[in-house]
Amino acid sequence: MADINGRRVLELVKKTGNSVCADCNCQVTEYASYNIGVFLCTQCAGIHRALGTHISKIKHLRLDKWEESQVKHLEEVGNIVAKRKYEERVPSFYRRPSENDPQILREQWIRAKYEREEFIHVEKQRYARGTMEGFLFKRSKVDDSCKQRRFVLSERDNTLKYYVSNKKDPKAEIRILDMNVAFAPEKLKPPTSLQLTYINQGSTRHIYVYHDDAEVIVEWYMAIRSAKLNLLQVAHPTQPETELAQSLTQDFLKEGFLFKTGPKPSDGFKRRWFTLDGRKLMYHDQKLDPYPKGEIFIGHSSDGYSVQMGQPLGWKLKDVGFIFHVKTPSRSFVFSAERSDDREEWMAAIQTVMNRLMTPQDSFCRSILLAKAPKKRNSFLFQK
Ligand SMILES: [Zn+2]
Repeated sequence: MADINGRRVLELVKKTGNSVCADCNCQVTEYASYNIGVFLCTQCAGIHRALGTHISKIKHLRLDKWEESQVKHLEEVGNIVAKRKYEERVPSFYRRPSENDPQILREQWIRAKYEREEFIHVEKQRYARGTMEGFLFKRSKVDDSCKQRRFVLSERDNTLKYYVSNKKDPKAEIRILDMNVAFAPEKLKPPTSLQLTYINQGSTRHIYVYHDDAEVIVEWYMAIRSAKLNLLQVAHPTQPETELAQSLTQDFLKEGFLFKTGPKPSDGFKRRWFTLDGRKLMYHDQKLDPYPKGEIFIGHSSDGYSVQMGQPLGWKLKDVGFIFHVKTPSRSFVFSAERSDDREEWMAAIQTVMNRLMTPQDSFCRSILLAKAPKKRNSFLFQK
């Protein structure tokens, strides 16, 4: 049975603002930081503990004993007041984590808020300056080796370039506006890694980079988002900033192995690594391939796109695994998942994309693939 202070804490957590985690908005708060004055979920409390007690002092709401002064401080502050202080100047391009986001994002958000106080002292936001330069390890295109490369981000030039040792000319030059960046913690080791995806000569190209320091990787991620937002504002001056900020980067909707056959019903099933990146369903021989073998554009359902269980009419494949197919205006693509729940997840993810209205950026992406896709990469647009 909780004593009087314990009961006060349990009353406080019911108050508006305190019942969701101060850092990730998760609906279950189990802990509080009694020096900062916030209520937290279990995972965020774990990160607070790792910061050290000089930054954050954590107690369990029910299992720990509460002192009068600690409860009083929680009463005086609480999640809403604390947010006003620690999140006063969060830039609109900064990605705030939610409970299902990669751990690296959540951890760096908490460190940025309370340890480095980046959203109180804006001069600490190195990622908001429009330029960034530094070394990252880049995975080789041909094998698993990783080499240090110098990367230079320039918002003014709309480019991210990387250089081999001290060579004057960049090895690659990527337009910021054509680039997506996603955390790739489960694909590359170590987990402090990013996957940069962009269009190169009509096909998507993936680059994998990492840095041992999680803070550096998140800084690069935010710097790309910052530059992209400013460039988008120039391109679309009437669109509200909050709207533009939603399309800066996108996580992959789903990834994993599927078996794929076609274009002819007699073609055998081949195991491929699939990535659903917005409206692009890409397939690769291997997880970390630099280029997809093919890219299937997923348009809106009103334009003749659908995803259906089983084989297309007239196909008589032997039942291998859990089959479904995607119909596009030009042809059907037949896939097989290893498990029934995996098939359901793929179909639901693809259906979600088909239900979304096409944006100008979607049409742009489609037109680039149409215009430049080289035949040798087996792009779907050229498959008969
Ligand atoms: Zn949380």
